[in-house]
Amino acid sequence: MEITTDEQTLQYLWEALQTEPRRPRYHWAEQKFCESLKRGWLFYSDIEDMLIAMDSRVDSGGFRIMPLVEHMGISFEEVYFRPRAISSGAMRFDALRPEYYVYLLIQLERVGLAVDTARYVDIMLPSILPRNRKLFSVAELEIFWYKRTRHKQEDVVLYTDKSLRYEEYGDPLKLNSGFTLTLGLDAEDKPFLLMIRAPKYKPQRAPVEVSCPGCGHNYHKGDPESSMLHRKEHKKRMTWLQPQALPAMLLERAEKGPFAELVTCDSPAWKHSEMYNRALAFKREFHYDFTQWKSPNSGREDPDVQGYLFTGEFGEIIGACAFRNRSDDPEIQKWGLQWIWLCPRERRKGHLEQRWRMFRQRFGNFLVEPPVSEAMQGFLKKQGDSELLLLDRKP
Ligand SMILES: [Zn+2]
Repeated sequence: MEITTDEQTLQYLWEALQTEPRRPRYHWAEQKFCESLKRGWLFYSDIEDMLIAMDSRVDSGGFRIMPLVEHMGISFEEVYFRPRAISSGAMRFDALRPEYYVYLLIQLERVGLAVDTARYVDIMLPSILPRNRKLFSVAELEIFWYKRTRHKQEDVVLYTDKSLRYEEYGDPLKLNSGFTLTLGLDAEDKPFLLMIRAPKYKPQRAPVEVSCPGCGHNYHKGDPESSMLHRKEHKKRMTWLQPQALPAMLLERAEKGPFAELVTCDSPAWKHSEMYNRALAFKREFHYDFTQWKSPNSGREDPDVQGYLFTGEFGEIIGACAFRNRSDDPEIQKWGLQWIWLCPRERRKGHLEQRWRMFRQRFGNFLVEPPVSEAMQGFLKKQGDSELLLLDRKP
């Protein structure tokens, strides 16, 4: 929280916070609050008295607390007493709703004042905690998580001139209350900044970008939002990086025999979704800009492509490849093996070799389109099929 103020206020707070408040009258202030609670509003004129009752340091000829309040994102509202008759006038008052008064106490506690905030949060919580309360004002939200954030929030910085913010400051001064004060003095020894650090404040470590060794997803460690996204993504990616038994594929195999692995535009949506995920994995591994399987749901809009899902003993899908009909392409005029991707643990285990003869029968002298890995080039050589290699062509 940053607050613009004057030199006198800085000097006063710097000195006052180093003293102890005199005989707080917490009970009186609470009584006054409970009366206001019935009315639904706290008057501007009462608030200063209530704050002084709790922390005598607020009471000083040379210091006004209320101008500070207005810099804390708290706005007074206009309220009127009900007129005696429709024709008569109404008296106007500036007032705060009770939750905004408690929000104010939360902010003043951050400044280092002893304003009994925890007590008022307890009074307000029963009206905020019920699960049917779905929307919170900023004040209610701060009350809602007060117990978790208390004494841990970021620094409160009061300054007279923001441009001097990064000048040198004096030594930090730790108070009995646990707060730490730092005063910034300008060249003429006049205070331009007062920094108030909470007792349990810990500087947030900047989140570090890491890459998960399991799934390869990049995320920011220490950032809950990013970590949650990673957990979701991790679970998804592991389904193809570490494939598990797939009953649907076993059923398909019982029904279609050797054609169970084939995916055409007539295949069910789940097979297209499996193809799409492997195309995605291929794209990530080779840092391609786009996914070479058009639809995760159905292939009806792409009849020129045929896919193969490589499956293991239990129906688990260990990889996939896709052939594209390029007979309209003057340079190729036949089928092309567009991409092939196997999960890491199943590489170099002969899965492609087992299917190679069948591929040649079905797609003839197809071309193997780039990017072609060294492993793949070695494979073609071994099969005596190096002439199928198509180099240096964008897919
Ligand atoms: Zn991961």
